[in-house]
Amino acid sequence: MSKKDYYEILGVGKDATEEEIKKAYRKLARQYHPDVNKSPDAAEKFKEINEAYQVLSDPQKRAMYDKFGHVGVDPNAAQGDFGGGDFGDFGDFDFGRDIFGDIFDSFFGGFGEPRKKGPVRGADIRYDLEITLEEAFLGAEKEIELYRTESCPRCGGTGAKPGTGAKTCPVCGGSGQVKQVQNTPFGRYISITTCTRCQGTGIVIEEPCPECRGTGNIRASRKIKVKIPPGVDTGSKLRLAGEGEPGARGGPAGDLYVVIHVKPHRLFIRQGDDLIYEAPISFVQAALGAEIEVPTLDGRVKLKIPEGTQPGTRFRIKGKGMPHLRGYGRGDLHVKVNVVIPKKLSEKQKELLRKFAEISGEDVKQPHKGFFDKMRDAFGV
Ligand SMILES: [Zn+2]
Ligand SMILES: [Zn+2]
Repeated sequence: MSKKDYYEILGVGKDATEEEIKKAYRKLARQYHPDVNKSPDAAEKFKEINEAYQVLSDPQKRAMYDKFGHVGVDPNAAQGDFGGGDFGDFGDFDFGRDIFGDIFDSFFGGFGEPRKKGPVRGADIRYDLEITLEEAFLGAEKEIELYRTESCPRCGGTGAKPGTGAKTCPVCGGSGQVKQVQNTPFGRYISITTCTRCQGTGIVIEEPCPECRGTGNIRASRKIKVKIPPGVDTGSKLRLAGEGEPGARGGPAGDLYVVIHVKPHRLFIRQGDDLIYEAPISFVQAALGAEIEVPTLDGRVKLKIPEGTQPGTRFRIKGKGMPHLRGYGRGDLHVKVNVVIPKKLSEKQKELLRKFAEISGEDVKQPHKGFFDKMRDAFGV
């Protein structure tokens, strides 16, 4: 791929002075700054201008470029390089970061992203939503409110007050860089950082938009409807495509992930798509058998307790659990029988139980203690 000549890009001659290069750059940067110039290829052009300036404004890089052409100053090869290669060659250690990369990273808000020149997708947003077990069972439609970044409607995202333009950055004088010299026992360090005022673009807007204070973005509260399908569980993620933070340079918006948290229920314990319910029954029901009613999330159902049921026995009622999130059908309801021993008995009840024990051949000399101790031993409760 043949690259355009850097001198050509800036419209200066091979023998242009530093001052001429700077001047040409400023003029072009102002013209093609994507905040100002809305034509589709402005960003690309602006990038080109910056790349050219990056090289031609640096005497060392310029010399390399003059000698070897683009190969000598490949910005991709130099990216992220803290100038380590300069150690032996130059008296000053150059700790300046690759300004070209910095400009675009900070200018377009793509921090943390690999250095890309094309469109950047917006960040995803996570929203934690608490729902009840009943809502997880039936499914629900919830409205959530979240804050996200949106393009400022007042200035259309340029950051400039409507009707105003751009001017040279007063902090860096248009170079986009701030140079700091530090003298240490090990030598003189020169650090070149990206100008924070203009984010390395060398130009700033004349008057910031009062709505977004010049950032071009506003944080806006949005209400979004979320459809919760039946069967969701704690940790289920619902993805709402395109509802995240906006993209940069024409990139798509990120996604919104709604993470579900199901509140504990007073009756049911959930295990996957199964539910566990603990049913209290009397020892008489356990011994003689009975038909009891148990609650489910969609009405009560009858359950037959057979004669001689032991405490802790589990019965399974098929299809009365939670709906399967993917696919048809439902989990099961497990009913765990909890045999309740009465704490208070009337004289008549005690009399009958003593009689019961006698018939069973149990020791009734110490009716109270003996009987209940044996009950406890027998049932392990
Ligand atoms: Zn604005
Ligand atoms: Zn500046």
